[in-house]
Amino acid sequence: MASPRQLSKPINKPALPALHHLSSWQGSSSLPSAVMETRFLILSDTHATAYTAPQQYADVALHCGDLTEKSTLDEFRSAIQLLEGVSAPIKLAIGGNHDFTLDTPLYKQRFDQASPAQQKYFKKEYGDVGEARRLLETAGITLLDEGTHHFRLQNGASLSVYASPHTPIFGYWGFQYPREQGHEFDITGADVVMTHGPPRGILDETYRGNEAGCTNLFGAIAQARPKIHCFGHIHEAWGAKLVAWQDTNVESSYSTSVDEKKSVIINSLKGSQGSEELMDELKAHQHEGYYATSHCTGDPNPIQQGKQTLAINASIKGRGRHRFQLPWLVDIELPKTD
Ligand SMILES: [Zn+2]
Ligand SMILES: [Zn+2]
Repeated sequence: MASPRQLSKPINKPALPALHHLSSWQGSSSLPSAVMETRFLILSDTHATAYTAPQQYADVALHCGDLTEKSTLDEFRSAIQLLEGVSAPIKLAIGGNHDFTLDTPLYKQRFDQASPAQQKYFKKEYGDVGEARRLLETAGITLLDEGTHHFRLQNGASLSVYASPHTPIFGYWGFQYPREQGHEFDITGADVVMTHGPPRGILDETYRGNEAGCTNLFGAIAQARPKIHCFGHIHEAWGAKLVAWQDTNVESSYSTSVDEKKSVIINSLKGSQGSEELMDELKAHQHEGYYATSHCTGDPNPIQQGKQTLAINASIKGRGRHRFQLPWLVDIELPKTD
């Protein structure tokens, strides 16, 4: 295991003390808000492949779903092995559409409707209802249900995460809703949003050029403007983009909400195929096993609360020469616990 904060190659940023104060505080009568730099290792869509996570320490590890391909117990064991190899004191995960046994009401319904012979087979392959969840939790992986969750981190930061495993229907899987019916994402006061699927228009483009993300999710993100929104599901849209929001309160569509000129692509598979510069950037990170980006005070692109959101598609499973895409190592500032 790598020891905390020892990087094989330091993240390209000026050295800062771990604890400092928001630069926006300019001598007002209220006390300055203390913040902690916090490092996230973000991955998604490992699908029980032979992928091995990097050893790099992070304060928090996030897995945005599709831990498995078919939701078998064997695949969950392999996903657990992968996450056990991650060096982080707290590991948060959500289910993806492929992890349908984590969708307890759905799996219970299928189980109850099955014949005794099928039930015997289900138990052997997929386990009892709730068994996959128990396996994860026993291994120290916190599986987040839909909603907002609060954590006190070992580094002294407080973290609020809104999680949702739900995606529009695509095949016969778990945590799905009809696209035309939509889904309510009730995001309030979250530093980090982790969903399985992307929002419409952001790192959601399929090989065929379709925007596969959810419009309801886009609206909720545009409204809530969290520091980070991480997801996966559309593997080929791997990348990160610092999305700048328009000053207007109109959040109904991409064009009225996103300020494209002020937004920054950190990297993307799509971009790297079209640009030699981004491709070289990507190659330079391959040997490290992660793609690092830092958005703290003093960095080139510090996240401005309420004005920007760092969107991250962290899908690991790729194809062709991108068989395994890189997880993201992201530094941001979080409020310090009192
Ligand atoms: Zn997937
Ligand atoms: Zn998926």
